[in-house]
Amino acid sequence: MINIKNLHKKFNDLEVLKGIDLTVDKGKTAVIIGPSGSGKTTLLRCLNLLEIPDRGTISLGENSIEFQEKKKLSSSEIISFRKQTGMVFQNYNLFPHYTALENVMEGQVTVLKKTKAEARTIAHRLLDKVGLKDKADMYPHQLSGGQQQRVGIARAMAMGPNVLLFDEPTSALDPELVGEVLKVMKELSEEGMTMVVVTHEMQFARDVADEVIFMDNGVVVERGTPDNVFNKTENQRTLQFLNKVG
Ligand code: ADP
Repeated sequence: MINIKNLHKKFNDLEVLKGIDLTVDKGKTAVIIGPSGSGKTTLLRCLNLLEIPDRGTISLGENSIEFQEKKKLSSSEIISFRKQTGMVFQNYNLFPHYTALENVMEGQVTVLKKTKAEARTIAHRLLDKVGLKDKADMYPHQLSGGQQQRVGIARAMAMGPNVLLFDEPTSALDPELVGEVLKVMKELSEEGMTMVVVTHEMQFARDVADEVIFMDNGVVVERGTPDNVFNKTENQRTLQFLNKVG
């Protein structure tokens, strides 16, 4: 489903991604871990072209783009690529003046050109799925952080993406609200959604990941099953990181 080859990204003189190779099979959950500043979020943002890579190739489903430093992408290329992914952000990024239901309807109407009635039916179903059936008419400020993030997940799914991308989805939450969001993510993973998750939640990585990817300093240092990365690694950089995060 996802195939990344030799991906490079610089911000001015700072080389943040230094030749990333990565594949994620359909229906699998890849969890990216690593120290702050190692390029995890940038990699995720490259996957839906919120950042444009300098070099390398990304294939997503049937779309494939080869990036070159001075090549400009057409807007139709960007749009058809973006439609493949749904992004869940650290700070939810909900529209504050829209209800939960309207937040989940918005992209369906404006981007996918669905009728409001169709979008509403889908939004109700997805809010039910993330356990927020009763909160459809609430505004974001009337919801807890965990509830807002679950609306964020419903909104991402409403676009019918092939892949869900999660950028530290629980790191802005109070500790007691983390579990309800991880539970929804675990259910989606078990249902066979293809997911790429950047997180500091090591227990989630152990329990849910099909593959754990350890990034440091712009490269993939190690990848493998949770058991291989957490229990059997002999890589010094991985060990050092795991010792720090506990
Ligand atoms: P991580 O998610 O692993 O913490 P990031 O991908 O957020 O790492 O950041 C990697 C590096 O890139 C950091 O040094 C960060 O400051 C820098 N960076 C990220 N986004 C930008 C940007 N838009 N402009 C300049 N530097 C950036």
